[in-house]
Amino acid sequence: MASRVSITFWGAAREVTGSMHLIETDGRRILLDCGLYQGKRKHAFERNRNLPFPASSIDAVILSHAHIDHSGNLPSLIRSGYRGPIYATSATRDLCVHMLLDSAHIQEEDVRHVNKIRRAQGKRPFEPLYTREDAVEAINRIVSYPYHVPFQVADGLTVTFYDAGHMLGSALVAIDFDDGSESRRLVFSGDLGRPGFPMLRDPEHPEGVVALVMEGTYGDRCHPSTDQATDRLKEVVLDAVRERGIVIIPAFAVGRTQQIVYRLNLLHERGEIPEIPVYVDSPLATDVTEVYRNHPECYDREMLEALFTEADHNPLGFRGLTYIRRKEASKALNEIEGPAVIISPQGMCEGGRVLHHLMHHIGDPRTTIVFVGYQAQHTLGRYLREGAREVRIFGRPFRVEARVEAIDGFSCHADQHELLGWVRRISEGGRLSSICLVHGEEAALATLARAIEELGIGPAVIPSRGETCVLA
Ligand SMILES: [Zn+2]
Repeated sequence: MASRVSITFWGAAREVTGSMHLIETDGRRILLDCGLYQGKRKHAFERNRNLPFPASSIDAVILSHAHIDHSGNLPSLIRSGYRGPIYATSATRDLCVHMLLDSAHIQEEDVRHVNKIRRAQGKRPFEPLYTREDAVEAINRIVSYPYHVPFQVADGLTVTFYDAGHMLGSALVAIDFDDGSESRRLVFSGDLGRPGFPMLRDPEHPEGVVALVMEGTYGDRCHPSTDQATDRLKEVVLDAVRERGIVIIPAFAVGRTQQIVYRLNLLHERGEIPEIPVYVDSPLATDVTEVYRNHPECYDREMLEALFTEADHNPLGFRGLTYIRRKEASKALNEIEGPAVIISPQGMCEGGRVLHHLMHHIGDPRTTIVFVGYQAQHTLGRYLREGAREVRIFGRPFRVEARVEAIDGFSCHADQHELLGWVRRISEGGRLSSICLVHGEEAALATLARAIEELGIGPAVIPSRGETCVLA
């Protein structure tokens, strides 16, 4: 009889943050992702600090991609005593160098501010969630494997990375369990990308899948095409040129920022927009863009040609584009006159430099704020996107005179149609017998589950946090 394989969902279960799933078989424990949970401050801190299992009981960690909601709690795992390997693609490792150190810096800064107040009140200071030393140790433990090269994680347990097409280095994780009597394959989608998406290759379709753990962020929605999204961006830029306005694009430093820069370069090269100043205001985005140049193995043909065939051409660094690291240079942007585009983190406007730009320009009707990514509940980004006319920034009220636009076509997550197309291909071999949906709000996952069942595949279950499913 085949050994029992179970999976317990400890994060991104009926929500979109803190991806973390625990696989157990024959006394071995493998962690899929170890993402930072983002939410209300105190609750988030408690949840990230108190792992639901002893860190030292884990045998190996497998990381799907570098986004912080998938990788960002690895230093906590180290701090709690984990000393095993962390498997990832080499691009994911190189991105994690910057992302985990940046995240550790934010954790330390956060606590420094709080502790200043606590000390003045004679209270005991808090410890940060983790430090740069923890992040460095996490990076030190990452072992890289290329796509399509199977590697053994434990006896009878082999892992292969396939391209997820979601961001640089993103992987679908295929785990083959072989106990001598039977071989079964579980695939974890991580975050699934979109076919035809610029720069990256299309998501792959591993074969022989028996059990699937699949994301459903946009399980109830369809995106406009990337061409439509690029056209919309063009209109926004042309309006700004006409009105001498500022366009603020809150974007995550990794992935989305590079996509927007790539499109702006494309529009300018085609002569569809004039040359206007574009600022990427983020030290992290600046570092990460360098990492992009070091990983040609992750690109589609078009991007490779743009990067390496045309001599003086760089789709991520064109004339008029300035990458900003220093705080003073960022502050100087407060004084600039339009037209200009400022791309600045943080994508959901919950912190970071974008708040200063919003504070300075949100009251100007010539400003356009363009959302290009997912906005979680209870974030400033979500309030603005839903049409709030007054918002609080750094505790102060501001009237929203700026126009607010949302361009969903830039999303690097598959939409409902694309998710269904992918799962249909995965099911073609006829072996797929269990599907668990994760990484989505409840309504999105419920809609996706119904749509999957209508295809005659399934059933698809939607586990809650802490729930365990046993593989058939
Ligand atoms: Zn992601």
